[in-house]
Amino acid sequence: MDQFPTLTKISEDISQLVVRYPFGMFEMNSYLFQGENGFTIVDTGSEAKESIDIWEKTLASGIKVEKLVLTHAHPDHLGLARWFQEYHHVPVIISSLGYKEIQRRRNNDQAKWIRSFLENHDSPEIPQNLGNSEAAAYDFEPDGVFENQQTIKLGNDTYKTIWTPGHSSDHFCFYNQKQQVMLTGDHVLAGLSPIIALWSENDVNPLKDNFASLEELKAYSTKLALPGHGELIFNLDDRIDEMITGHKYRLQQIINFVRNEEKTSWQVCQAIYGTLSDTKFFAPLMATIARLIYLEKSGEVHSKLKNGKMYYKSIAK
Ligand SMILES: [Zn+2]
Repeated sequence: MDQFPTLTKISEDISQLVVRYPFGMFEMNSYLFQGENGFTIVDTGSEAKESIDIWEKTLASGIKVEKLVLTHAHPDHLGLARWFQEYHHVPVIISSLGYKEIQRRRNNDQAKWIRSFLENHDSPEIPQNLGNSEAAAYDFEPDGVFENQQTIKLGNDTYKTIWTPGHSSDHFCFYNQKQQVMLTGDHVLAGLSPIIALWSENDVNPLKDNFASLEELKAYSTKLALPGHGELIFNLDDRIDEMITGHKYRLQQIINFVRNEEKTSWQVCQAIYGTLSDTKFFAPLMATIARLIYLEKSGEVHSKLKNGKMYYKSIAK
């Protein structure tokens, strides 16, 4: 007997909805926590017709929604927050840092900043419409905000809010001690390493933040981790170690590549990822820049600005 046919039951009161859309990551995991006042939903999926269809079907199956909580303000997680609020009168809760991010993206300040930042890093031509299609999804006011290390109710259970900057500076995980469940959002994923990049002038060294945030999660004993994309994680600490090793491997690759000759981020990016098409270069380049900045701040490489472009070279040891 399937009471809610679109949902996959994970535990007594936690269900998952895979929200699909035809771009970006193509799917995102929403989690629904059942409580006496209805379901608390965490994250929505991107703003797209396909995502709205699955949510409409889910709501039509008779679920009552208490509120929506967001892990971070990326468009694939927050995309339908405004829709839930406007059309279904669902209160939307995000961290105060996430709220600041909403305000920044609403004005498209973020896209302007990324454009000049990428130009500094020798980027190929950046699409004119960067960020444009997403700004409208940010045109709403949240109904409540939370801070770091607070408790928040997801359904009937109490979760702790854990600030995990790295993938985004406003990212939060949610932990329930009783069930040893950690909702990891985009901080820890099973099958791939989430992109770590600078998204605004406030981001200084996101990869360093990310390493600290990964270590921080190990302090919480976890049986089940609920990631924002892909498969559930049953061995969180192992997965965290694997991700740290992966980052260190890439860092070493970069150090080697700029050992004898100075290179721009884009040259380093192509050396690592090979030829990238006009639509595929953005994420790898952003990740490469974050790594070079990390290496510079840890004294492994130095940078020089020449003709408006940054060049990096290993520091001889
Ligand atoms: Zn994200």
